[in-house]
Amino acid sequence: MRFVYPKGKEKALTLSYDDGQIFDRRLVEILNKYGIKGTFHLNSAHLFDGQHYPEFVSQEEIKDLYAGHEVACHGENHYSMFLLNDQRALMEVLEDRRRLESLTGKMVQGMSYAFGHCNKNSGEVLKMAGIKYSRKASTTGTFYPPGDFMEWEGTCHHEDNLEDYAQEFLHVPSYVELPLMYVWGHSFEFDRNNNWELIEDFARTVGGRDEIWYATNLEVYEYLTAIRSLEYSADGLTVYNPTLQTIWYMDSKGLHTIEPGQTVYMGKR
Ligand SMILES: [Zn+2]
Repeated sequence: MRFVYPKGKEKALTLSYDDGQIFDRRLVEILNKYGIKGTFHLNSAHLFDGQHYPEFVSQEEIKDLYAGHEVACHGENHYSMFLLNDQRALMEVLEDRRRLESLTGKMVQGMSYAFGHCNKNSGEVLKMAGIKYSRKASTTGTFYPPGDFMEWEGTCHHEDNLEDYAQEFLHVPSYVELPLMYVWGHSFEFDRNNNWELIEDFARTVGGRDEIWYATNLEVYEYLTAIRSLEYSADGLTVYNPTLQTIWYMDSKGLHTIEPGQTVYMGKR
């Protein structure tokens, strides 16, 4: 048997865009047009308040602008974790979370490190602030899910031969379990480099496909973490789902689920 994504989807796509500049508006429009979901990592001290930070989206608009996507932390002030002790790092994350939650009316549990910088304590500090995952700026060039969600590395930045990665993803070899394509960047780069067609072409290529689960970063985290939380009998054939997520798997007889609280025998009957 092998695990698959919700509703039997073979692969997952997620995007992550940092800093919350006004160009996010055009990016969200493109993603919505093709049914692609993303996570927007914001610095809550750098949102337009009617006077300061006019190049950023406004405090008032983030709730509606990012509806259907995920709003997540990027540090209140975009400070590098290289320069903060644990207490100051905790403040930077917790205050960002508190402000974004009050602006969106939703729980905020994701993060990306400003500059991609983290140190050996960052993961623990973030957990204390109620953060579940955080992304770095380095990438793997692969479609494997991350080993450590506190040091999540994406597949590629959108400037790294995105169309080639898209084709590889559409034809990913079957030995890659739960293939995940994770693209990150900043929307202001499309404006600065005048290459909006890059993301528009990508969205047209990978959007609207039956075999792809379009998910936010947090949704990917929740599903993969639930799979990692399954409990097995000593022979590995009986599995118990202690989580609140429905888990999906395929075997020779087709598609099955392991419902929350359910124990399933997966051996031959
Ligand atoms: Zn940033």
